[in-house]
Amino acid sequence: MPEVKKVSEGIFEVVKDKKQLATKNLDPGKAVYGEKLIPVEGIEYRIWDPRRSKLGAMVLKKFEIPFKEDSKVLYLGAASGTTVSHVSDIVSEGAVYAVEFAPRSMRDLIGLASRRKNVHPILADAGRPDSYSHLVEPVDLIFQDVAQPNQAEIAARNASRFLKKNGYLLLSIKSRSIDTAANPKEIFKEEIGKLEQAFEPKFEILNAKDLMPYHEDHLAVLAKLK
Ligand code: SAM
Repeated sequence: MPEVKKVSEGIFEVVKDKKQLATKNLDPGKAVYGEKLIPVEGIEYRIWDPRRSKLGAMVLKKFEIPFKEDSKVLYLGAASGTTVSHVSDIVSEGAVYAVEFAPRSMRDLIGLASRRKNVHPILADAGRPDSYSHLVEPVDLIFQDVAQPNQAEIAARNASRFLKKNGYLLLSIKSRSIDTAANPKEIFKEEIGKLEQAFEPKFEILNAKDLMPYHEDHLAVLAKLK
């Protein structure tokens, strides 16, 4: 019988031959992207691959992810919903507003949302939060993985529009989306500086680490809205 250990709210480690990150499947019997389903004592866990998910990698890099069962989450850069599906498992009584601007990915997200009532897909540019403000309520947490040159600015714009006071921002910054030639360390310093100083609202940085060995040239940041 596999052993299950709780890592944090809604996030688990399933030990069966090796340790693997997992969430409880909100849609039992159904895998979203070919991941393994492992039943343990009447509960089905979905294995969460940190190499396919910045958020999964953040958990393994010991970020304290402040999700609660009823958290409201704004997810920017949802793609086809690989990580969105795990967030949906974690905030089973809450909501995930999943913003994505690629129509092909949106089709997959709509399929996901048809089976998961807490997923709300939004076809929009994350850089223009006013265009979807009528669809999103104030949120406890913003997760952003958009791989754009103005990542810090996009995060700040959305936080000022939707993030509750003392809410959290979890940001994945891809240095090569900002500048392919520059030293990633310099870019990361600059982006953190922007979150702390340049934009309104300002953030308190709680943790910042690279995502190696799971993702190259990526920095993850956990920040709190001041
Ligand atoms: N977070 C996803 C996951 O773990 O499953 C992967 C996200 S992928 C690295 C980045 C996604 O952000 C792409 O699907 C891309 O189309 C989307 N994206 C980039 N810029 C965007 C923008 N301004 N607005 C909305 N989506 C954007």
